[in-house]
Amino acid sequence: MTKKLIVANWKMNGTSEKVENDLNVYGANQITNSPNVVLALPNLYLHHASNLNANFKIASQDVSQFLGYGAYTGEISSRMLLDFKVKYAIIGHSERRQNLDESDILLAKKLENTLNSGIIPIFCIGEEQSVRDSGKYMEFLLAQLGLLTRLNAGIEELIIAYEPVWAVGTGKVPTGEQIAEIVELINSFVQKTLPRAKILVLYGGSVTAKNIAEILQVADIAGVLVGGASLRVDEFTAICAHA
Ligand code: PEP
Repeated sequence: MTKKLIVANWKMNGTSEKVENDLNVYGANQITNSPNVVLALPNLYLHHASNLNANFKIASQDVSQFLGYGAYTGEISSRMLLDFKVKYAIIGHSERRQNLDESDILLAKKLENTLNSGIIPIFCIGEEQSVRDSGKYMEFLLAQLGLLTRLNAGIEELIIAYEPVWAVGTGKVPTGEQIAEIVELINSFVQKTLPRAKILVLYGGSVTAKNIAEILQVADIAGVLVGGASLRVDEFTAICAHA
């Protein structure tokens, strides 16, 4: 079995007690304490995670559009994240695109800041149900991907997560063929436009311990992004058996 990248997105969840407990459990278990396991924690808990010096990697769920330090109340820059050994940053998650109106202009700045400071972006793309139903989802996804060709930053390494909005947190999972179609679309886009970049493609949306084996059978899929199921230690540990 090839090793896969398993990324947990905890979203806005966790108490200090649960986070401390879960991180200690993950750090002590060979299955989860792997460099192929990535935990995207709320920023408040990054310090604790980085102090553990564990083998698993840590990610932020967002990054500021502003670089370095300065008068940007409430913002956390990529430089500050690097200080806490953050290796990856989720950018463009559908919940932020929708709930916070994150635009391509904003996402471009976040991607540039991240790439220019050496944090690897996990760039999320995905269509809503209405777009899928319209049959125009390939064009929609290509338009989202197009942002990557308009950045003022070199892309050496990047992760693209295909997260259909209709599958995130809904329990609905696309078929293997549906995922494969998009993985192929992303890979051919990347070959044409970013041939020198090292790019991995993940799937995200209602991944569980039950369906992960089937999802990982899709050709060229490098791993998964897991939301809800990553909050349950036993289930997430079972998912990480694929890491
Ligand atoms: C996510 O939020 O990135 C996600 C994939 O959520 P869930 O696994 O709960 O669908």
